[in-house]
Amino acid sequence: MTTSSTDDWLSQLHANGYRLTAPRRIVIDIVAQSQRVLSPAEVHRLARKRYPAIGLVTVYRTLEKLEELSLIQRVHQPGGCHAFIAAAEGHQHLLICQQCGLAEYFSGDNLDPLMANIGRDTGYIIKEHWLQFFGLCEDCRK
Ligand SMILES: [Zn+2]
Ligand SMILES: [Zn+2]
Repeated sequence: MTTSSTDDWLSQLHANGYRLTAPRRIVIDIVAQSQRVLSPAEVHRLARKRYPAIGLVTVYRTLEKLEELSLIQRVHQPGGCHAFIAAAEGHQHLLICQQCGLAEYFSGDNLDPLMANIGRDTGYIIKEHWLQFFGLCEDCRK
């Protein structure tokens, strides 16, 4: 990820009439540049290093707006809480390190036969799927 995603997000938010205050810009930059999934509390902790007065409410509202514009994707953590990562273009699947939160997108799956079977057994027409794998990254395995 590069700094260009921060600029891109800022212009998309601006185009959607979102006021880009200094604290909001910091939240946007942190999430746009992160290669790890971040919970709202983690974003808040990182943002306070750059803007000590920033409130958790600002963090939540900014994340909400980013999610609304599909710029970030919600990740369900095994603990039950959730975190966010910059969204990928197109249909992608996520691989997330349970220890450090490092996230990687990958494409390609062969779920069609599985979906066809489940659809037949349940009578559903399956239209979409969402795939997230959890494990340990190379560094965390050392
Ligand atoms: Zn890791
Ligand atoms: Zn897929």
